[in-house]
This record gives sequence, C-alpha cells and structure tokens, in this order.
Amino acid sequence: MLVRKPAGGQPNPNFVQCVNCKKTLFTAEFEASLRVCQYCGHHHRLNWRQRVAFTFDADSFVETDTGISSLDPLEFPEYAEKHQQAQAKTGMVDSVICGTALLDGRPVSVAVSDFHFMGGSMGSVSGEKVTRALERGANEGMPVIIFCASGGARMQEGLLSLMQMAKTTAAVELCRTRGVPYIAVFTDPTMAGVLASYASVADVILAEPKALVGFAGARVSKQAQVHKAPDDFQTAEFVFRSGMLDRIVPRREMRSTLVSLVRLLGGHLHLEAKKVG
Ligand SMILES: [Zn+2]
Repeated sequence: MLVRKPAGGQPNPNFVQCVNCKKTLFTAEFEASLRVCQYCGHHHRLNWRQRVAFTFDADSFVETDTGISSLDPLEFPEYAEKHQQAQAKTGMVDSVICGTALLDGRPVSVAVSDFHFMGGSMGSVSGEKVTRALERGANEGMPVIIFCASGGARMQEGLLSLMQMAKTTAAVELCRTRGVPYIAVFTDPTMAGVLASYASVADVILAEPKALVGFAGARVSKQAQVHKAPDDFQTAEFVFRSGMLDRIVPRREMRSTLVSLVRLLGGHLHLEAKKVG
C-alpha cells in the first residue's frame, strides 16, 4: 500500500510516496500517470476498478456472474473470517471480477484479478469466474482479455482450488476451437497455480514492467537453487528473455496495445457477427 506523506501528524491526501524509490509524488499527477512513479517508473498495484477504468471504454464495463460466492468446504481454520474481512476491505465477493466491456467500441469478455483480495488467490469462485469469462468469449464470439494478479491457488480450498487449474485451461481450449483470441496480461504478481494454468496458455501474453512472474515463491526458490539466480529472477523481464512472454508493455501503452491486438486477432469475429446479423 502507498504510504501517504505525513504532514503535521495527519496524512496529506495531496501527496503519496512511491513504494519503490520512496520519493514524494503529487497525488493528482500520480493518478494522471496511471499510478506509475514519474521518477523510477514503478508500476503500483491497481485494484480491479482502476484496471477497468484505465483499460476499457468509459462506463462500458458490465459485471456478470455476481451471484456466486465461496463456501468453506474444508472448514479450514480462520478461512471464513479471513474471507469476510477481504470482502469488507475490497467490496468484492471474491478475488476475480468478470464481465463484458467495450475496447475502442469492440465488445470483449473480461476477467480481472485483484491482489488486494486475499493475494488474488484462486479458489473455486475465482476459477469459475475466469472460466465463465472464457466460455462467454467462446460462445458469443468476443475476444477475451484477462488481467492476472495472483499469488496462486488458494490453500484454504485445497484440491478444489487446484481443480480450477484444469477447468480454466479447458475453457481456454474452447476459445481456441472456436477461433476466439485470448489475451492474458501478467501484472504484479502472476505466480504459481495461476501462472501454471490459464495465464500461460493465452494466444498472446503481455506483462507490465517488473511484474513478479514465477512458480514457486522467492523463499522456496532460494532454498532449491544450486546456482545463484540472476538479480532479475522471476520478473517479467527475466521470463521475457526466456520466451515466456510476447511483450512487456508499459501501463500507458496497455490500452492501445490491446486495441491493436483485438482489432488484428478478432477482426474476423466482427465480420462473422455482421454476417449473422
Ligand atoms: Zn518511484
């Protein structure tokens, strides 16, 4: 979270502090630059509302599948309390929001993961929402755009969480058979069970600069390493060099890049819809 610069003991809403370089920024300028630090270029984490506002046509997002909520199938200690606290903190039902939106006038099916809800972890509800976003795109001929921000599968739902990996990946295959493009955007962080399922099998994979991308967490990786890892290990830049990503896109260019991709890869859908119409 950003720390607001104290002034006279009270937080001053006109200033924010960059979490990376610690420099003080004007809040208005910070928001105008899409919450990217003007000094060090650090891309601060966004909540789902900010992500939607920065990406899609104004007021075009319509949330769907709002009526599903998580049970506590394993009666995992403190899960119910933690889940309720996350709901109160974020105003979300679970860590993923899905729906439809317009991107430069073209309809797209969307899912956005929000790290602020239990680390964006994928339980049965978030897996279901990602699946429905993909299936909606496949069934209605809309390109699918998914923003990933997750520490991985949700341990409190055990195997039911891990099952989402197979379910979401099967839904990606449905898009493929219908010729519907699916674009994934890795934001900070895209890890573990999410990286190892629907995130990695998109037709086009973009990432924000310096986003953490990997399977095991940093501590586990360190313990397992025989050789010293490069300094940028598990960053978007590192996995890009390994060919895992198609492009690293600064936030200010993300919307225009997605517009181009949807126009390029989804143009045939538009034509087919016109023919049917
Ligand atoms: Zn900074």
